[in-house]
Order: sequence, then C-alpha cells, then structure tokens
Amino acid sequence: MMEESLQLQLGFGREFVFNRPVERSGQVSVLLVRNARSRRYIIRVLSERSVRVTIPRGGTLRGGKVFFDDQHRWVSDQLDRMERQRARESPLWKPGTRIWIRGKKEPIRWDRNGAETRVKLGEIELKFDRWELDMRAQIEGGLRGIARQELPVCVDRLANQVGLKPKGITVRGQRTRWGSCSASGGLSLNWRLLQVPLAVRDYVIIHELCHLRHLNHSPRFWQLVRRHCPRYREHETWLRRHEDQIIRR
Ligand SMILES: [Zn+2]
Repeated sequence: MMEESLQLQLGFGREFVFNRPVERSGQVSVLLVRNARSRRYIIRVLSERSVRVTIPRGGTLRGGKVFFDDQHRWVSDQLDRMERQRARESPLWKPGTRIWIRGKKEPIRWDRNGAETRVKLGEIELKFDRWELDMRAQIEGGLRGIARQELPVCVDRLANQVGLKPKGITVRGQRTRWGSCSASGGLSLNWRLLQVPLAVRDYVIIHELCHLRHLNHSPRFWQLVRRHCPRYREHETWLRRHEDQIIRR
C-alpha cells in the first residue's frame, strides 16, 4: 500500500502525494498539503518513509515539489538520523516493556506458574512453556498466530460489506507494508495489523479489497474507499505516524 506510486486526490482533497527516491533510504512519500495560514513553504519529516511539505497561501504544487527537491540533502540527513536512532533503541521485550496492541501501548504483564508463563497484553493473553530474557520472538510468534485466525474473519465481514471477495488471504510479516493486493486477486496482510486501532485495521483491509476493483490509486479507487470508510484519511495519517514504531522495528 505504501510502496506503490501514489498520484492522487488532488480533486477532492487539498493534498497531493508523490514518491521520491532519497539517497541511502530508498523511497519516501511526499505529502503536499495546502495551508492558507502558512506564510512560507515548510518541510517536515513525519517518519522514515514520509515527508510533509506545507504549501503557503499563494503557493503552488509545483512550488512545493521544487522546495522538496531543494531540501533533498536536509531530508536525507534527517532520515539517516532517524534510522540510527531506531537502531540504538532496539528494545528488549520483557515484563513492563510497552508495545502497541490495538492502537494502545500496553505493558507486557506476565504470570508464571510452574513451567507455564502467561503473558498479557491488553485483552490478549498468550501462553508459553518457557521464559527468556528477551520475549520478543516468542510474543511476536504468538501475535502472528492470533492474527492468522483473526484477520481472515475481518476480511470476510468487510468483503461482504464492500461486495468484493478476494481469491485468498495470506498473513505475513512484511517490514514495509501493511497489506497488498495481487493482480490475481489475493490479499496479503501484515500480522502487525493486530497492533493498530480496530478502525485502522479495517481501513487497511477495505483499502486492499477496493484494489480488487481498481488496481491503482486513481480518484475512482479513492471514491470507493471513501464510500466504505469515510474517515480513511485519518486512518492513513495514523499509519504514517506510527509505522516507524510498529512495522519497521
Ligand atoms: Zn493501495
């Protein structure tokens, strides 16, 4: 979803998104947003994969693009800095570590009983037969198992609502995208959708289902998304803001 080239929504929004290659960091999507109260072009790095350029009153989309290109080196430096920071954090998952579950940062709680360890994350409970200093691999494996059961059920429900059924569903652990739709009609979803708010998870699924009809990001595609998920832009923003903390870790 994030990887494809986005060329969209100039018609009904005040936003325009395009992708640009950036040295060493690969692609970023650049969100151009008009703000009548702004007096100058402003650039802000939102995440390792997205940058926002604010276009002031009297400014133009073209001006926004030129401004981005002028700031290219600065953006590249900021992205490098963010990447180094993330590499330094690399947290251990142990009791008390807070991780994203259903859109909230929940502390890992545990309860050991003989050989069995029960881990609680919000309303999710996992059982393990051993305990390690870093529980990350085990917890991620457990969450992935839950996602494998849960996501196909959500897809069924939303496919009925949208009226488009996929040929198959796979649940994976992609590091760069929340979901995708293949030309042959298969959906691939990230198990980390378990970590985002329910409404955001549903939006990602609706987004991919709508690709069964339009395998692009044309205005007609977004019209269909909006019909089934009116608040999709809010959800898209949530994903952009949190992708570094959830998907890319
Ligand atoms: Zn898409």
